[in-house]
Amino acid sequence: MNGHDVIIVGGGLAGLTVAIALSRYNYNVAIFESSAYPHHKVCGEYVSNEIVPYLQFLGVDLIAEGGVSITDFEISNTKGKKVKSSLPIGGVGISRYAFDHLLFKQAKKQNVRFYFKKVLDVAHEQDVFTVYTKQKSIKAKVVIGAFGKRSNLDKKLNRDFIQRKNGWLGVKCHYKNEEFPTNLVALHNFEGGYGGLSKTETGAVNFCYLARYDQFRKHKNIEDFNSRVVSQNPHLREFLKHSEALFDAPISIGQISFDSKKPVFNHILMCGDTAGLIHPLCGNGMAMAIHSGKLVSEAVHRFMSEREYLRKDMEKEYSEEWRKHFKDRLRYGSYFQKILMQESLLNWGINTLGRSEGILRAMIKKTHGKMVTP
Ligand SMILES: Cc1cc2nc3c(=O)[nH]c(=O)nc-3n(C[C@H](O)[C@H](O)[C@H](O)COP(=O)(O)OP(=O)(O)OC[C@H]3O[C@@H](n4cnc5c(N)ncnc54)[C@H](O)[C@@H]3O)c2cc1C
Repeated sequence: MNGHDVIIVGGGLAGLTVAIALSRYNYNVAIFESSAYPHHKVCGEYVSNEIVPYLQFLGVDLIAEGGVSITDFEISNTKGKKVKSSLPIGGVGISRYAFDHLLFKQAKKQNVRFYFKKVLDVAHEQDVFTVYTKQKSIKAKVVIGAFGKRSNLDKKLNRDFIQRKNGWLGVKCHYKNEEFPTNLVALHNFEGGYGGLSKTETGAVNFCYLARYDQFRKHKNIEDFNSRVVSQNPHLREFLKHSEALFDAPISIGQISFDSKKPVFNHILMCGDTAGLIHPLCGNGMAMAIHSGKLVSEAVHRFMSEREYLRKDMEKEYSEEWRKHFKDRLRYGSYFQKILMQESLLNWGINTLGRSEGILRAMIKKTHGKMVTP
């Protein structure tokens, strides 16, 4: 067949993981990615340690590359009342600019072919896929969907969640602030949203928040929203007052959906946010993207190497594995987001958690998995 064994649509963390893992078995693997590396992405940039051993196996060491070790967590309500805890597993602070680029370089080293093109459609006929861009069409035995939380392809494939309006906006900017502790990830609430602060490999502090769009649209722009709404939380007010923005302007994404999605659709195996997005307050979407990439690569390897393991077996087994590892975490993420977004519940939570660090650690554990090993 003129084409590739495996085509991955989307070269974020999930897609790059699949590509690196599969290229170790010498399959002919290609990624289609619409943006060149490196580039910034809206993300809290706190990666759970659960994924570190698997990344090391793939040849990527986040700490050796300058990622900072994060051990402590704090959360505050809109008035700034806060509780602190150590993190059960902990994590690493690293920018997406650096993280995605590291995986890209590793994939290149392992001869993954990159096409910097936007995919417009994917068809599956007579058990062969055709991937279409504006300029060309290429065939593959297997196609992996790793195109993130919202893509032109979701519309083209007519996926359920894309029909519904979604009212969340994500905003991110890096700041210079020498005072912010290196080992801390802080989550601060404000009316209609919440924001995370943590350091990255450059020493910059990443401030990334999620806000309800109906709340945001009452204001002129991000600057206005920051000063009138975000800054009502005294910790965020102090942070913004004493920090210097390092981007010309913050970056943002709209229409973020937390609706459930299917891990297999039109015979395409979906991974990362394309299969399901966990609420950002859990700080775990990146680890889940990488872990789901690992599960996809194992299912695909079996399909490619065992004659009796059919496509339907691969699709069934991957769907089951995905649900086993992630379904409950998404559900708990959704409960915790509801608590965070309701002032009275959050106040009750903070008063209760203030008396018991154990409860907070137990809640964090519910949205995190076990260490992911090769
Ligand atoms: C506000 C916010 C804060 C967050 N904070 C954290 C956090 O602190 N910690 C954490 O672990 N997670 C966090 N997350 C979640 C995390 O960002 C995602 O789970 C993670 O980025 C998923 O990676 P991915 O590879 O699935 O998708 P992405 O990284 O989005 O990659 C998808 C790629 O597909 C490409 N693409 C899309 N369509 C096409 C197409 N048609 N053709 C070619 N290429 C295409 C895009 O260019 C993109 O590079 C946060 C999310 C949000 C919204």
